[in-house]
Amino acid sequence: MAVITNAPRGTQDVLPAQSARWQYIENTLLRTAELFGFREIRTPVFEHTELFSRSVGDTTDVVQKEMYTFLDKGKRSVTLRPEGTAGVVRAVLQNGLLGGALPLRTCYVIPCFRYEKPQAGRLREFHQFGVEMFGPKSPAADAQVIALANEIFQTLGIEGLELHINSIGCPECRAKYQQALREYFTAHLGALCETCQGRLEKNPMRILDCKSPECHAVVEGAPLVLDYICDDCREHFEGLKKRLDLLGISYSVDPKIVRGLDYYTRTVFEFVSQKIGAQGTVCGGGRYDGLVEELGGSATPALGFAMGLERLLLQMDACGCLFPEENTCDIYLAGMGEAGSLRAQQLCYELQQEGFYAECDCMERSVKAQMKYADKLGAKYAAVLGESELQSGECTVKDMRGGKSVQVSLTDFAGQIYRLLLEGAYTEVIEAGEQLQKGQE
Ligand code: ATP
Ligand code: MG
Repeated sequence: MAVITNAPRGTQDVLPAQSARWQYIENTLLRTAELFGFREIRTPVFEHTELFSRSVGDTTDVVQKEMYTFLDKGKRSVTLRPEGTAGVVRAVLQNGLLGGALPLRTCYVIPCFRYEKPQAGRLREFHQFGVEMFGPKSPAADAQVIALANEIFQTLGIEGLELHINSIGCPECRAKYQQALREYFTAHLGALCETCQGRLEKNPMRILDCKSPECHAVVEGAPLVLDYICDDCREHFEGLKKRLDLLGISYSVDPKIVRGLDYYTRTVFEFVSQKIGAQGTVCGGGRYDGLVEELGGSATPALGFAMGLERLLLQMDACGCLFPEENTCDIYLAGMGEAGSLRAQQLCYELQQEGFYAECDCMERSVKAQMKYADKLGAKYAAVLGESELQSGECTVKDMRGGKSVQVSLTDFAGQIYRLLLEGAYTEVIEAGEQLQKGQE
């Protein structure tokens, strides 16, 4: 039994009571991204495993420990996407999108999969909103992308996120930095965790992102990348800071951020929360100028970010953000007897076709039980259709929130219900206004 009634560890159901929150967030994300020119792209949930090992990087935690990889029935190794960028770059190249107008701006809301130790803000199936931009090498693009993330947080009413930025340089200046890191970590080899000892030669920067406490202590004294970046990378970083200042977006430079994925170059950034526990990074992103070429395209600068929606929700709750009210049933049509029930269903369908949220019985309940259900539902209006209503051609529509009942003709029923709902909404606005005025007096 347990196997069937328990979801896999690290997964979460979004139940009907919460789905309106998710829809609101997803709509806000996509709408805000659209204002900045980003259009949605949809790619498969699984890709060839090699795509991720090549792009995310062989020595990263994601590829070494966290991927859901399996052989399909054709014995091909496939992986449930642990992040969104690799699939987007693959799709952009496969469909020749870089031949169109540049910059190309894409965005997505997707489930991602990582085999991690589940805890608050860390799941095995989680959701990301991400954006990817292809073409621009100017720091103006870095600022645009950061401004979009910032605007999303503002639109959702999120406060208290700190923006941390850093530059991890280009492959040329990074070689010098990696050599310095190798020397430093070699001197502290014994103090590093086993995985990081293995990373030392191939990718010493990964050690900076290691989550194990022993490595943390060593990383404290490690050389800082900003002391090693070349003039071009420094100029790019200064350009970004200048633009963020201009846009009024506050930030701090954190020379310790390197991000957990290998493809980043130059700018990296994070929006971090102090309010949601240890998993405080709500959004992470940066440039990946080498990735398009690495995956077989012509050299194209690119950049993006991804935010974890579960962490975003935690932060919204921590900030007391408001969500729109759920849509409640406009009208419940109770049926009495065979003919009444049939007419109720017919009218109900007509209303639904006109765009109203209407319900009628399908549980074969008594009229009393139907009205009780309508009440539970929070329906704004309810009407009973029985023999006498069918004969007179009109019914009583009851205002379930305590207002007056009105007689409504069954011909042009939808039109009259529309007027009732409008009047109801109008009265609510007027009353809310009066309340507000009373409060101010
Ligand atoms: P962390 O340091 O928390 O492991 P990361 O560096 O692995 O994060 P990215 O790969 O940059 O994260 O993913 C971007 C965002 O996706 C994160 O900032 C976070 O909000 C979210 N995220 C990543 N992994 C998870 C997860 N296992 N569960 C929930 N959200 C996640
Ligand atoms: Mg991680």
